[in-house]
Amino acid sequence: MYEFAVAPAVTSIRRRGVAITAITPSSIGAEFELEPGDRIIKVNGRVVRDYLDFRFQTGGETDLVIEVRKQSGEDWELQIERDESEDFGLSFEQIVPRQCANECIFCFCKGNPEDARPSLFIRDEDVRLSFLYGNYTTLTSITEDEMQRIVEQRLTPQYVSVHATNLDVRAYLLGIEKERADISEKLRRLLDAGIEIHAQVVLCPAINDGEVLRQTIFDLASYYPRVSSVAVVPLGLTRYNTDARLTAVTPEFCRQTIKAVTQIQQELHSRLGTTFAFLGDEIYLRAGRAVPGRKHYGDYPQIEDGIGMVRTFCNEFGALLRRLERNPPQHQRQISGTIMTGTLFAPVLEAQMKKLNERFGMRLHVTAVQNEYFGGDVSVAGLLTGGDILGASNRIRGDFVIVPKTTLKSDEEIMLDGMTLETLRQRLGVPVHPADLGGFANLISDQQLQN
Ligand code: SF4
Repeated sequence: MYEFAVAPAVTSIRRRGVAITAITPSSIGAEFELEPGDRIIKVNGRVVRDYLDFRFQTGGETDLVIEVRKQSGEDWELQIERDESEDFGLSFEQIVPRQCANECIFCFCKGNPEDARPSLFIRDEDVRLSFLYGNYTTLTSITEDEMQRIVEQRLTPQYVSVHATNLDVRAYLLGIEKERADISEKLRRLLDAGIEIHAQVVLCPAINDGEVLRQTIFDLASYYPRVSSVAVVPLGLTRYNTDARLTAVTPEFCRQTIKAVTQIQQELHSRLGTTFAFLGDEIYLRAGRAVPGRKHYGDYPQIEDGIGMVRTFCNEFGALLRRLERNPPQHQRQISGTIMTGTLFAPVLEAQMKKLNERFGMRLHVTAVQNEYFGGDVSVAGLLTGGDILGASNRIRGDFVIVPKTTLKSDEEIMLDGMTLETLRQRLGVPVHPADLGGFANLISDQQLQN
């Protein structure tokens, strides 16, 4: 199993170069008659593996020799002169993620129902995606080539799942041998080369909490500011991940964690001038505690990991209320509908909607939807499915339903259980609007919600 697990990390079948998917009219690409399906093979003699390579190898270059394999099979060599600021007007195929070589006991892939969308089973572990999107990697199977690439192309920051600096604990959590779990040398190399690291700990009760967590945070803090933050997020268990080694996160565990980590944060704040180790929003919500204020999060270094999202939402909602006070929506009293969200976020949303209803006479009802698809302690809005929302249909009030935009695929109106938005609309029999806060603000302002 281990041999197999290692292999995909380095052997995914890859054609040479990077494929062009679109060309902007009147751009350099159009001028040189490049077409979708053509592949850029080399730039100035250097191999191009993906669009990051293309970006890196063309950056700042004004005289270029670009080798292209045309879709027809012809090879072209283009001599291009351009102003430094002139864009090529090319869009490229997406990066195919490398897969991890771990067997983490808490892996989210083990928590999926068998019929879940294939993309939910992708165990990506890719330093390029870490740089581009903040995806976490464990660095356990990173190749020398990738290490060099991070440094040469300045793929900084990198997001690293450390989980524990205690090697026995890390190896146990990742399901691999200690030798491979030990990334201390790799981390040092990256840090010495000026690569910034954001770390993550998936907190598993009775495994890497307590003294192990304390040690992990202080070990990482000793590298501050090169290691610039640590996100501590709770283990999430679905009904399918029944590994006996895992203990579910309870509200009491969250309260104890807040107590312990608050002390560490205070100590580090007086020493480093920053919170450094941030707890996931979920920990505060499950503990029944308010999330910390804006100052706590600084410049929100781990927002992509769900750290500070509730604080940001509340602050932005406050700004929305102030805007609406100045410029109230027309027919505000006719706005009546239901906003569906996960059980975790529902109390936060409800408190905000109450303000909106009281000030503007709207009738917006928040419905906390249970996640039956994943079950377990999954309670975040983004993992709700069409089936879950249908299951709450008897609680719909008013003329429309708003569902979190994050329940849909980013490039398609389809939910995690494969239900399309259109089907959901037909089955609910009312207009359904996917929206984030910005979308919600537009909806109530531009009368789309009124009959
Ligand atoms: S949690 Fe991440 S690193 Fe661990 S096995 Fe799953 S995909 Fe791989």
